Amino acid sequence: MQLFKDQILKVSNSLTGEKEVFKTVKEGYVGMYVCGPTVYSNVHLGNCRTFMSFDMIFRYLKHLGYKVRYVRNITDAGHLENDADEGEDKIAKKAKLEQLEPMEVVQRYTVDFHETLKAFNLQPPSIEPTATGHIIEQIEIIKEILAKGFAYEVNGSVYFDIIKFSESNTYGKLSGRKLEDMIANTRDLAAQDEKRNPQDFALWKKAEPQHIMRWPSPWGDGFPGWHLECTAMSTKYLGETFDIHGGGMDLKFPHHECEIAQAEASSGHSPVNYWLHANMLTLNGKKMSKSTDNNIYPDEIFSGDNRILSKPFAPSVVRFFMMQAHYTSILDLGNDALLASEKGYYRLMDALKTLEKIEPSESSSFDVANWQKACYDAMNDDFNTPVLIAHLFDAVKRINLIKEGQETISKADKKVLQDSVNTFVFDILGLVDQDNNDNNATTINGVINLLIDLRNNARANKDFATSDKIRDELLTLGVQLKDGKEGTTFSLN
Ligand code: AMP
Ligand code: ZN
Repeated sequence: MQLFKDQILKVSNSLTGEKEVFKTVKEGYVGMYVCGPTVYSNVHLGNCRTFMSFDMIFRYLKHLGYKVRYVRNITDAGHLENDADEGEDKIAKKAKLEQLEPMEVVQRYTVDFHETLKAFNLQPPSIEPTATGHIIEQIEIIKEILAKGFAYEVNGSVYFDIIKFSESNTYGKLSGRKLEDMIANTRDLAAQDEKRNPQDFALWKKAEPQHIMRWPSPWGDGFPGWHLECTAMSTKYLGETFDIHGGGMDLKFPHHECEIAQAEASSGHSPVNYWLHANMLTLNGKKMSKSTDNNIYPDEIFSGDNRILSKPFAPSVVRFFMMQAHYTSILDLGNDALLASEKGYYRLMDALKTLEKIEPSESSSFDVANWQKACYDAMNDDFNTPVLIAHLFDAVKRINLIKEGQETISKADKKVLQDSVNTFVFDILGLVDQDNNDNNATTINGVINLLIDLRNNARANKDFATSDKIRDELLTLGVQLKDGKEGTTFSLN
């Protein structure tokens, strides 16, 4: 069904700062590109949030009836340590550290990435290209940019010439930065720096003899600059101008700004109609990040083996927690928030089961069509999942009132309600019924907490034989109890 013909979707476009009506380049088709992970370490929960947000967007666009080509890359070369043009390649550095081939590092963390996203029920993209698989395309773009006079070669490296580019284009339009301010705020070029201006960025870097990830090029052996792969892969699979480009907010500058510059310099077109940016997941109020210790990994959440949360949480509960915030808002991870999400998630799942069983009446005591419209309105308003979830809880309240005989629903409306709730909960928010999946996680958690209480009572009564028995037997069953200042918590092995 081509729902997109009736539903007016609006999206927040970072390029204009406006919420705009979404209009595709080609009717009925959406081209969407999202920057993927740099595969030199496991993905943390912050990374997962961004990919989950775009999975929800992918799902909703498909639900509206668009044919979506979703391209999400794997960065397996070219991303240097400090996100600029200096330092070691992140993957090569890890390979040296672990005495592995760079491609072993890439394989290990690509597998982890896929497994993690699968646990959160993300759908695979339509194409998942790699930077190393597109070196030829990247070299072609560099040649094009050089031919147009927007880049220069120095000693086997090629740099993008921001000053030249700015004579005919605007550098900084996505991030809202002004070139004059950037120039005023930067250090002078170091004597050994090959760039003409500090704002210039590398399209191709000469590989020093010790650099292991290297490819031949017209400028000698080297490797592509980080920003270039996304320009090469997005335009190859989606065309010179496509509909949506996404990524985390932290990629706006310099990464996405440089992508715009590269595309405009090589093709002469603005590459993307709608830039969508997902906001950060924070922990203790600070951005979760790979390079600092301020992060938590999905496995640690599923097993409960971490110092932050009091118990394990199922993947769908974590996904529900993420969906309760708008994708453009900052979200802070915390134990209380997850506990509240868990409660809400199971209330929602229970109501779905209740709905299956309720007996319809002659007529409905509330307007189901209106409720359904409100759900679409929420999603059409820049994928507003927290408002959608509020409407879903309105439905939960009604379902429970129908069960108690205080509201009624007709047979036809019951079908509409059931179909829409299932569509929004499972197809669009991407939740799964963890109860069916996990052999009733709530019951297991409840039983363990009951045993923890009994053990605390036994300890208070100095009945250490019983308290030790509970601890040891739970351990044999793979449940580890941890006594701490905040009380006893547990993890599942
Ligand atoms: P990286 O592998 O570091 O390039 O990151 C992969 C994706 O995760 C990018 O789109 C980042 O913007 C995003 N990301 C990184 N840290 C966070 C965070 N704390 N919260 C949400 N997204 C993040
Ligand atoms: Zn990218």
